This record gives sequence, structure tokens and C-alpha cells, in this order.
Amino acid sequence: MVIDILTLFPDMFAGPFQASIIKNAVRNGFLTINLIDIRDFSGNRHRTVDDAPYGGGAGMVMEPGPIFRAVDYVRERRGHALGRVILLCPQGRPFKQMWASDLAREEHLVLICGHYEGIDERVREQLITDEISIGDYVLTGGELPAMVVVDAVARLVPGVLGDAVSPAEDSFSAGLLEYPHYTRPKNFCNHFVPDVLLSGHHEEIRRWRRRQALLRTLGRRPDLFGQLELAGEDKDILKKLRSDLESLKLD
Ligand code: SAM
Repeated sequence: MVIDILTLFPDMFAGPFQASIIKNAVRNGFLTINLIDIRDFSGNRHRTVDDAPYGGGAGMVMEPGPIFRAVDYVRERRGHALGRVILLCPQGRPFKQMWASDLAREEHLVLICGHYEGIDERVREQLITDEISIGDYVLTGGELPAMVVVDAVARLVPGVLGDAVSPAEDSFSAGLLEYPHYTRPKNFCNHFVPDVLLSGHHEEIRRWRRRQALLRTLGRRPDLFGQLELAGEDKDILKKLRSDLESLKLD
């Protein structure tokens, strides 16, 4: 996968992209990340890329020209029409795991990071295919959101996590939150690992984890059940969990 990131602050990406999974994904050839400084396309010697908003008001707006020229450059460099051109934007659709898996199937992504008051609306109208928000809050720029998107997508690109790790059981992948994890020691300050995990009984462990995943989701994110088709076994577990919780409330 190739990801071209258009930004006013390419230096911000150095730390996060030079560690852990992303670093290895790039080193092992699963991922190419190309940082493009929008100022290189300013078209003026002061390298300015923003101007005051028409209609007045506070702040500055990123001009369309430099962004259009930077996108043209990417198109020419890649030698094909661009598929997904994504704007990081607090007004976009909330970013979810399903969307990350969808993007992980693409061969090429272009991410555009806004700054100041945001970008000229004509960029959105003419160039953008997707607008991603990473949450209902406003950040200074699209750089941190772009890093979030790249990280979430990169780990789903086949091969990136290696054979030992499967993202399929991660929270949200199958619609539920993941079950809790334990590692050595068995007894940590008199807090014990659940017996079932030490039993070596694979089917019991599987059932325990499923129950825990359903319990966690019920307790923390019951809204997730609204988007889920539960299988027979899950429906039975959930019914039992709900009635147990009801009887706890009555007691
Ligand atoms: N004036 C804009 C508004 O109220 O919608 C906010 C602009 S924000 C200060 C500057 C840039 O940060 C945006 O253009 C966008 O690229 C990025 N940004 C800020 N918050 C974001 C979020 N929650 N998700 C994605 N991008 C965000």
C-alpha cells in the first residue's frame, strides 16, 4: 500500500512513523508513506498557503491552489487516476474499525491534513472522496488524525502484523469489545488469573472469552449490539448475562 500525506508539517510524522509496527511495515515493504509538504506547491516565494476568509471573521483558510497542485503532483507521480482522496476533518464521518478494514484493501490512499480554520470548500467539493473525523473534538491540524488513520489501517494490511497476531479478535473487528487478557505471574499481589485460562481446556477457554467479550460489551458499549447479528450461542449467553444482571439489580 502507498499512502501519500499532504501536510503543512511533515516533520510531525517523524517520531510516530519511525517506531513499532509502522516502522516495520515500511521496512518490510508492506507500506510506503510519502510526506508531501503543501508549501512546496504555494506558487510564491514566501511559501504562503493560507489567506483570510471571504466574508470576514477570525482565522485563516488554506487556499485551494496549493492543494490542487499537490494532488496533481501525486497523480502524475503515481501515474494513475486517484481512488481515495481523504480529508481529515472534524465534520467528517466518524472513523470506525470497519472503515479501517475497508481502507486496508486499497493500494493507494491520499490523506489531506487541514490546518487553521480548515480548507477552502472547493477542495472538498472537487477533490475529496471521503472525510474522516477521529472524534467529536477539534484538533489544531489534521496531522494527528492522519497518524491515527495510518496506524489503524496499516496494522490491517495483510502481512503487517505477522502470523503470530490476528486482528480478527480485536475490539470492534467482529462488532464486540475484546475479552480481558492475563499473563505471568499467576498470582500478582494476591490477584489471580482465572482458573479456566490455566486449565488447558481450549473449548472452555473459548467459551469463557466469548462470555467475557459479551459481558464487556454489554457493560461498556451496549450501543454496539444495535449493529450486530448475534449467532445462536451468543444470543443464549447474552440472554443469561442480562437475566443475571437483572437479578443482581433486584437483590
Ligand atoms: N474550523 C473547523 C471546524 O470548526 O470544523 C476546524 C478546523 S481545525 C482547527 C483544523 C484542521 O484540523 C481541520 O481542517 C482538520 O484537518 C483537522 N482536524 C481537527 N479536528 C479533527 C478531527 N476531530 N478529526 C479529523 N480532523 C480534524
